[in-house]
Amino acid sequence: MKNIAILGSTGSIGTQTLEVIKDNPSLFRAFMITGHSNAYLLIQQAMEFLPEYVIICDEAKYAEVKEALSHLPINVLAGYQAIKDMVTHPEIHIVLTAMVGFAGLEPTINAIKAGKDIALANKETLVVAGELVTGLAKQHNVKILPVDSEHSAIFQCLAGEEHNKIEKIILTASGGPFRGKTTDFLSTVTREHALKHPNWVMGAKITIDSASLMNKGLEVIEAKWLFGLEADQIDVIVHPQSIIHSMVQFEDGSIKAQMGLPDMKLPIQYALSYPNRVKNNFKRFDFVNYPNLSFEKPDLDTFRNLKLAFEALNRKGNMPCIVNAANEIAVAAFLNNDTGFLDMSDIIETCMTKIGYIEQPKLGDYLNTDKETRIFAQNLIKQMPLKAYDLKEK
Ligand code: NAD
Ligand code: MG
Repeated sequence: MKNIAILGSTGSIGTQTLEVIKDNPSLFRAFMITGHSNAYLLIQQAMEFLPEYVIICDEAKYAEVKEALSHLPINVLAGYQAIKDMVTHPEIHIVLTAMVGFAGLEPTINAIKAGKDIALANKETLVVAGELVTGLAKQHNVKILPVDSEHSAIFQCLAGEEHNKIEKIILTASGGPFRGKTTDFLSTVTREHALKHPNWVMGAKITIDSASLMNKGLEVIEAKWLFGLEADQIDVIVHPQSIIHSMVQFEDGSIKAQMGLPDMKLPIQYALSYPNRVKNNFKRFDFVNYPNLSFEKPDLDTFRNLKLAFEALNRKGNMPCIVNAANEIAVAAFLNNDTGFLDMSDIIETCMTKIGYIEQPKLGDYLNTDKETRIFAQNLIKQMPLKAYDLKEK
């Protein structure tokens, strides 16, 4: 029986993780669940799964959660600091990081230092501080088990290949809802367009990242650190059906792919059950229903975020941290109708030129870079000229 701490249990990955746990009560137990501010859902989850700890990040909601669970043997805590502290609890075996954004970094570092294996959904952790985090994982002998479907695919392709060199990996991308569209078209899209992903239902931030191809950019950086690759060993190919989840090419030219219907529960389950596979009743893939699997080159001129992410990876240091923070602010502004779709790339690019570069950052440098970039990007957005999409009622 593995005790699982789910950071972000009320989100898309978090709720699907609880479904996996529910289907396998003899293998996994939800030991700790945390959410940002959705007290209602967190309470429902606590009543159903009876975890040892429930943490609500938003301290204003503490009384509501505490009161609702007062008749149950559950410890209720509040605040981000409580999450950072409690991930080190001796009874936790795996910490599944399903919170969104930079907030995932510090709890993950604390969990690694306490010797916990990490089931990593929060890709931003490796984007921001991949070298630091993977170094700590090695030092503390903990596994970082990928939950992101592409990285899980590569991880599965690498099973049994520990002594064989990777020539390159091929990350597949669905292309998102705007695949094939022009810059002119993208200048007019709204948050409602961008929130409709063709193949996956996910949280708002990653859905926008998927539409702008920034998600693939973040995944390129995530892959670099998970699998110890150079930037030129990572290819991206658009595969609109999302059936091949990614591929590995070895030195003899042989390519292995991991395939299946798009369903995040499979990579979540594999991360929790690794190295074993567990029988389930997820819908099976049938080749006859997909006679045409297709592939195309990503359009880096229209979807500039992917190019910027590669650039950040090549420039190393705190540059990916700058890109991540600028992107978080840009996406939040786009979701709030404060900025246009294409402006997001401009914001990120400007931050990359204006924020101080640090060649060998330490944890404190990442925290400062993140803070500084957020403030800079927010001011940038305030100063941007009014455009048609700004005519929303405020
Ligand atoms: P989501 O928005 O649906 O859920 C986020 C969760 O994190 C919620 O429980 C929320 O309460 C919590 N949270 C948000 N901000 C927080 C903060 N500042 N402090 C503490 N908790 C906070 O997001 P999601 O789609 O589940 O994605 C979660 C992570 O997994 C992201 O890093 C994303 O890139 C990654 N991921 C998601 C998918 C997917 O299919 N949804 C696939 C691959 C990777
Ligand atoms: Mg992914």
